[in-house]
Amino acid sequence: MSANLSANLSVKSTKLIEELWQIPALDQHAHNLLKPEALARYPYSAFFSVSGQSDRFATETLFYRRSIRDIAELLDCSPTEQAILARRENLGLESLSELCFSKANLEAVFLDDGFLTNEILPVEWHKKILPAYRVLRLEKLAETLIPQALSFDKFLEEFRSAIDPPPPGVVAFKSIAAYRSGLKIEPVPKQEAASSFYVIKKTLAEQPLYLRDKFLIDFLVLQGLEIAAKHKIPVQFHTGFGDRDLDLRLASPLHLRPILEDSRYRQAPIVLLHGSYPFSREASYLASAYERVYLDFGLAVPFLSVSGMRSTLAMLLEVAPIAKIMYSSDAHLIPELYYLAAKWGRSVLAGVLEQAVCDGDLTAGEVETVAIAILRDNARSLYSLAFEF
Ligand SMILES: [Zn+2]
Repeated sequence: MSANLSANLSVKSTKLIEELWQIPALDQHAHNLLKPEALARYPYSAFFSVSGQSDRFATETLFYRRSIRDIAELLDCSPTEQAILARRENLGLESLSELCFSKANLEAVFLDDGFLTNEILPVEWHKKILPAYRVLRLEKLAETLIPQALSFDKFLEEFRSAIDPPPPGVVAFKSIAAYRSGLKIEPVPKQEAASSFYVIKKTLAEQPLYLRDKFLIDFLVLQGLEIAAKHKIPVQFHTGFGDRDLDLRLASPLHLRPILEDSRYRQAPIVLLHGSYPFSREASYLASAYERVYLDFGLAVPFLSVSGMRSTLAMLLEVAPIAKIMYSSDAHLIPELYYLAAKWGRSVLAGVLEQAVCDGDLTAGEVETVAIAILRDNARSLYSLAFEF
């Protein structure tokens, strides 16, 4: 690219980024904020690590370095962790959240409240700031019900009735099978699932229960899919990178093929979360091959380097229909992450769309509609049955 063309592109991109800030985004996958008293248990740098851990390299990532400058600009303080922590303390959680959410310009947020359940604020708390809806994590529901259930049949009855019909305010189900036993989810005879249940009951020393039995997880995820299909409610799947609980080899969305081929679940839209990074091309292919597969790019944006975010979104767009790609943040625990995702989601989207115009994939006249679709309208139409706009 000539220096002139490159300069021209970046001027246009800046203008487009400004336009994209005017469009309220629909954050279709995020998590609840931490209670203030729980916050003190984590070093600040841990919130910028995909693994959620803070070791001596936690401040060495490009994401952390970039974010310290972004947050300092937002909070109007110097770009050091110390200055940011002092400003946060001064503002308090409520004001900080209001600032981050209003700057992020979000239409609504969908919260998976199955992560660190004892340490987070309820979905209701977030509703004071913006419209918030719930994503119901299937494995968490099972973990809550198993310890009290006396028999497998009773447990299964309670599990099914908790999601059939989906409770009010729930816009999607979610599975974290990728974290526990992998995405190679296969049909399991009920007897096999029941045996697993009784083994777990016998060895229930762990508090709270951390479910990782493949037979039981596969069985329950398929129960969830069957009910989702009945109500035409989307099921979000964690795919791709995450913390060390996850075996990345089993987190490729390609493992979902048996589910995608099974006509019993055809009415359940499937959302592959996190751009399936680093399996973004695989995810893009699946969305092109299967009508009910959708994609989002939360977590990849904002946790990757700028070039990593740009190439991930570009890979998703390589073959997947535009109408399948959705914005999300996967923000969790601290309000800054909702803002950072909103900032970089728009910025990277602008860059990728400008490049598409430059390449001749899109015309300049099409860019705005495509941006609105990805930031908001695709999620609006996918979740329209559960969510009144
Ligand atoms: Zn998530």
